[in-house]
Amino acid sequence: MKIEENVVLAEHTTFKIGGPAKLFITCESVEDVENAVALARERDLAVYPLGEGSNVLASDEAIEKAVLRISIPGITYEKAGAQTRVTVGAGVTWDTLVDDVTDKGLWGLENLAGIPGTIGGAVVQNIGAYGAVFEDSVISIEVYDLATNSLRNLSREECLFGYRTSLFKQRAGSLIVTHATLELSDTPKPRLGYRDIEDYFADTPAPTLVEIRNAVRSIRAKKFPDLTTYGTAGSFFLNPVLPEEEAVRIAAKYPGMPLFPMPEGGVKVPIAWFLDYRHNVLDMREVRVGKALVWPIQPLVLASEPGATAADVQALATLVIERMKEATGISISREVQWLA
Ligand SMILES: Cc1cc2nc3c(=O)[nH]c(=O)nc-3n(C[C@H](O)[C@H](O)[C@H](O)COP(=O)(O)OP(=O)(O)OC[C@H]3O[C@@H](n4cnc5c(N)ncnc54)[C@H](O)[C@@H]3O)c2cc1C
Repeated sequence: MKIEENVVLAEHTTFKIGGPAKLFITCESVEDVENAVALARERDLAVYPLGEGSNVLASDEAIEKAVLRISIPGITYEKAGAQTRVTVGAGVTWDTLVDDVTDKGLWGLENLAGIPGTIGGAVVQNIGAYGAVFEDSVISIEVYDLATNSLRNLSREECLFGYRTSLFKQRAGSLIVTHATLELSDTPKPRLGYRDIEDYFADTPAPTLVEIRNAVRSIRAKKFPDLTTYGTAGSFFLNPVLPEEEAVRIAAKYPGMPLFPMPEGGVKVPIAWFLDYRHNVLDMREVRVGKALVWPIQPLVLASEPGATAADVQALATLVIERMKEATGISISREVQWLA
């Protein structure tokens, strides 16, 4: 366990923004997590688990918390017929896991290739992309429960996964994800229905697992800001999930707008469609506040230039939310977690 004081969070978030955290503790095992929680209590500081900071906007001011950088390593495999159970430490980088399993010929995570962050972050956010969602592969999640100071194993049902949410997000700060057990398959299960993927493989009738993984990465690279130049946390906003009647009423007003029925009920309304100038509702191309800007290729994404502050990003997010409300009456909320 590595204990540091006043660590600048700009160096630990993909927005490259954030003031100094009072305590910054790197936890490489469950025991480290236990000890770090005890230390935070001794110092009377709230605990904040952090992965790679790819879905967090941290305040510019000093952060009076104990930030626990969850770095628990390890990937183990257990084969059962055509299925393989994979148990992975919460600190493993998501894309490292994707490489490992796809190189072994295991299907299930390939459409989620290229998403930044750790396993812990993927569990909390229930990451999704290109027609796939993390929860589809989950068997169980191991957590350290701060209420009982003990480990618990939760089944997929107990995790209350939903669109970019989970029990761990609802109970932020009281459950720390330590391991995840997933089930992946030897049997090919290509999901090629998402439009960008369909177009990519228009001339390839049966792409391999590794080809799909690589295609997803290459499609994504064209959409998101290059993290060597800009900061970002990916999509800043959640697409609202509305009751069917309301979504149908909105769609009737905006011909051509796609709707996405959700498995758990309701219909997802794609905010990027409204923010895209080509649909003549709102033109948010490169709208800026200070050094924060709406990403022109994918307007759901906010980006930061060197020197941007959390205040710039927050003000820009508020502007997008207000303009969206004025133009369409639709309320949107932030996906990115605020750390202060
Ligand atoms: C360029 C870019 C593209 C992206 N594309 C996508 C995408 O396609 N789909 C998608 O779903 N997301 C996407 N994201 C968002 C982000 O990558 C995911 O949400 C990711 O899973 C966050 O992981 P992290 O380790 O960085 O978590 P962090 O950002 O460090 O933390 C996110 C939240 O999880 C909590 N947390 C982290 N680890 C733990 C833990 N071990 N236990 C308990 N709580 C924890 C934190 O407290 C925080 O509330 C993108 C981000 C970027 C920068």
